[in-house]
Amino acid sequence: ETLDKGLEKSKTSFFSKLSKAVAGKSKVDDEVLDNLEEVLVTSDVGVDTTLKVIERIEDRVSRDKYLGTDELNKILREEIANLLSETNKGVATEFSIPTDKKPYVMMVVGVNGVGKTTTIGKLAYQFKKQGKKVVLGAADTFRAAAIDQLQVWADRVGVPIVKQDMGSDPASVAYDTLKSAISKDADIVIIDTAGRLHNKVNLMNELSKVKRVMQKLVGDAPHDVLLVLDGSTGQNAFEQAKQFTKATEVTSLAVTKLDGTAKGGVVIGISDQFQIPVKYIGVGEGIEDLQVFNKYEFVDSFFK
Ligand code: GDP
Repeated sequence: ETLDKGLEKSKTSFFSKLSKAVAGKSKVDDEVLDNLEEVLVTSDVGVDTTLKVIERIEDRVSRDKYLGTDELNKILREEIANLLSETNKGVATEFSIPTDKKPYVMMVVGVNGVGKTTTIGKLAYQFKKQGKKVVLGAADTFRAAAIDQLQVWADRVGVPIVKQDMGSDPASVAYDTLKSAISKDADIVIIDTAGRLHNKVNLMNELSKVKRVMQKLVGDAPHDVLLVLDGSTGQNAFEQAKQFTKATEVTSLAVTKLDGTAKGGVVIGISDQFQIPVKYIGVGEGIEDLQVFNKYEFVDSFFK
């Protein structure tokens, strides 16, 4: 229900665009396909994924000879759900972490302003609510505000945070965080990291150093590298995904600000193009406004 509300704008927009694309047409022909292509692209599904979807629909048209526009909605839903299933295979459908990793180490990356700190706070809240011991690490040491903001969330949720002064070595903060987590017998460590893209080589070096240093304490850390993207920024989110996946191995995505945006399509395009599952979606600024991504709910809301 929250997701429905959160995606209200996306769904009105996608649905009305789709209706316009088929208005007055009873069968799916080249013109409808062209219109559909435009609807998908303008809904930020991304060119590559749009072409993939169009191709799949063309296949069905040529196989079945005739495809009515009344069926288009259903078929499009199926194809989009298929795309999401392909990348989300085996991904948990609730807030959970594997029990054989202790501490479970999450490294969170993303540019400033996308909602990285908020997402970390919301995750800490969910895991703490389950009775898990959570420790946060403020390894985005470039801006004092980033450290302060994470402190605010740590206080709000009531979990410990490990930090150093602004400008200190992110890898050293990460190391301290893991050390502290191990001594506290913590279940989960969430490390906030660099939010700067303007120097790719630096970013890459910084993230690999953070990883390397953490592995001195937890051999297979990080267990998850979560990239946070702002779902309302369309093509920027694609560009950021491109840069971060070049800089480090990203294993999952959180797409924020899907409340009040007509850009929910980025979820489909980015997870497909980069073959990385969307694990979480942000649907508001509040502590409870993070949801585990559910492809069925998502597709339902997108098309309703
Ligand atoms: P960071 O710089 O990436 O750490 O970004 P912050 O976590 O500080 O978030 C930037 C702004 O986005 C803040 O005002 C947050 O409240 C807001 N924000 C984060 N996630 C969401 C979301 O899912 N929905 C909405 N509407 N706002 C969000």
